[in-house]
Amino acid sequence: MQEQLAYLLLGSNIGDRRANLLNATELLVLNGIKLLRQSRIYESAAWGKTKQAHFYNQCLKIRTPLSPVELLDVCQAVEKKVGRVKREKWMEREIDIDILFFDNHQLNSARLTLPHPYIIRRRFVLVPLNELAPSLVHPVFQLPIDTLTNLCTDDLECFPI
Ligand code: AMP
Repeated sequence: MQEQLAYLLLGSNIGDRRANLLNATELLVLNGIKLLRQSRIYESAAWGKTKQAHFYNQCLKIRTPLSPVELLDVCQAVEKKVGRVKREKWMEREIDIDILFFDNHQLNSARLTLPHPYIIRRRFVLVPLNELAPSLVHPVFQLPIDTLTNLCTDDLECFPI
């Protein structure tokens, strides 16, 4: 199968957050994901349920021969291996791996929505993504990431550590 470009967002707000991001990246690579670029690590205030520890977030640009669902399977297996424990939605997490974009795919299935539906509403997604791909055009909104970042009204802080 032809290889595709994809962007992932890693997040962690429990334990050794930097180690959790590093472990996840290492395990993705061990599972055959080709790492092309990494953003800096950003610290961001928790979104949704705000009374919890700040997150560390990092965006990865990858290349993979996997299908979108196969990539999700790998991401979820890596989350488990890094030690993610099941909790309520929006609660703290040892590691979270979201697929932001998979080439230009648009998909809405029970397991997977592409592009990730919350990209445009969250500064903690847009800011690390903008570091890697400011001119990437969002296939639904038909606007580049730098414009979407400037338009984003989320005022939760997100800064490189
Ligand atoms: P979370 O609690 O943020 O890890 O959400 C995990 C759930 O979101 C899983 O059940 C996934 O099947 C689903 N999901 C839908 N779209 C995506 C996506 N683009 N990337 C990662 N997970 C997704």
